[in-house]
Amino acid sequence: MSQEIHFADLGLAQPLLRAIEDAGYTKPTPVQAQAIPLVLKGGDLLAGAQTGTGKTAGFTLPILHLLSEKPLTPKAGRPRCLILVPTRELAAQVEESVKTYGKYLKHSSMVMFGGVGINPQIDRLRKPLDILVATPGRLLDHVGQKTLDLSGIEILVLDEADRMLDMGFIRDIKKILALLPTQRQNLLFSATFSDEIKALADGLLHNPGFVEVARRNTASELVTQTVHMVPQSHKRDLMSHLIKHHGWEQVLVFTRTKHGANRLAEKLAKDGIPAAAIHGNKSQSARTKALAQFKDGSIPVLVATDIAARGLDIDQLPQVVNFELPNVPEDYVHRIGRTGRAGASGAAVSLVDHEEAKLLKDIEKLIKREIPRVAVEGFVPPAKPEPEAPRPPRQPQQRRPQGGQSRNGGGGNRNHPPRQGQQNRNEQPRQPQKAKPQQEKPQKNLSEAARHQAMPQTPLFAPKPIHRGQRHK
Ligand code: AMP
Repeated sequence: MSQEIHFADLGLAQPLLRAIEDAGYTKPTPVQAQAIPLVLKGGDLLAGAQTGTGKTAGFTLPILHLLSEKPLTPKAGRPRCLILVPTRELAAQVEESVKTYGKYLKHSSMVMFGGVGINPQIDRLRKPLDILVATPGRLLDHVGQKTLDLSGIEILVLDEADRMLDMGFIRDIKKILALLPTQRQNLLFSATFSDEIKALADGLLHNPGFVEVARRNTASELVTQTVHMVPQSHKRDLMSHLIKHHGWEQVLVFTRTKHGANRLAEKLAKDGIPAAAIHGNKSQSARTKALAQFKDGSIPVLVATDIAARGLDIDQLPQVVNFELPNVPEDYVHRIGRTGRAGASGAAVSLVDHEEAKLLKDIEKLIKREIPRVAVEGFVPPAKPEPEAPRPPRQPQQRRPQGGQSRNGGGGNRNHPPRQGQQNRNEQPRQPQKAKPQQEKPQKNLSEAARHQAMPQTPLFAPKPIHRGQRHK
């Protein structure tokens, strides 16, 4: 559908078309082609679109157009448009998009999230403001301090609404909705449509236009997916080997725990591979710095936990590695969606220990395809692998907490800086409240070599690749 459509056909103002040209976009993505005209008409919108589809421009461009059509003198601390997002990283990226696409317009924008000092934000709110991009927790802190006035909101965007619900933001969202004027345009973007999202949309949207560009749980077809079966204790060595062997220059590695992320980054650095870890225990400035270095190519490896990596927008990221499989199968889809974005091809490799076989099965069931098991060429497992740290208990295999999460139940909804001895709450939502202790399995007591043999999956470290599904440099 979008093949024949050009940005110039969508009804956007000239300054926006110029900014789009500067960004190098030649044609709208499907979500842009469908959503932009609907938003320009002024109605509500329900959009099913994942990160990577170009959804940010899909709402930012028409919003900038609408605001510029009705120029008002912006007032201090009283924005006209509110874009609510689940994470700091996404907030920063969305505001960057607002600036990029609005560079030939006169709008003022601001990003607001927790984990950083509130005073610079208060100072910024003393100046005129049109568009506010915020995470819910910090936004409510400002409302509480009366530094922010939401009575002038004309357009509300809930971006990655499903993630916000996952993270337990529903109560905060409801509080925020109650502070907004009733006459306004509402845009809701979500990658998935659970019953909770439907309920939220029903209460929020009036006769919404509907756009859906990615079917639920569809793993990007542009991403080549492979699995290497490997004992947990060999994974760090294998990671080094893979990076060196393939000459990967930009690889995002997902680990299940913050500690695991640190250990892997340290191991890679020891092997001469510059790597940085990002997770909720890192300060915002450390995360921003690591991300910038990763983006500009000065660090080839970024190791991240799911929540820290959420919403990361890196153009043409070629390689993603699941150092461990995620506990929730849908997270696998989100993870591999970090690559193969905006039409680029990409590869996702998963390192899977036999204890993760069940998770792998669940993922394959979800994406409705088998991921090829690929042997690793030339990898000689170390005679004495590093001892494993005790594993944290696995989370029960439940998709998402069901409605009405409390702050405790929903976890890290307020983006406050982590305090000493306190886990960043942003990292908590997927941790179980009542985690079952891990069942002892007979194989647990086997030696690594015996575990190799005990593993039912094909091939381990065959001398030659049976099949190579990933790209070579
Ligand atoms: P998003 O889904 O909004 O996170 O966007 C994913 C990536 O696609 C971003 O890096 C955008 O810069 C890029 N992008 C957005 N729109 C287009 C377009 N029309 N053509 C090419 N790239 C785009």
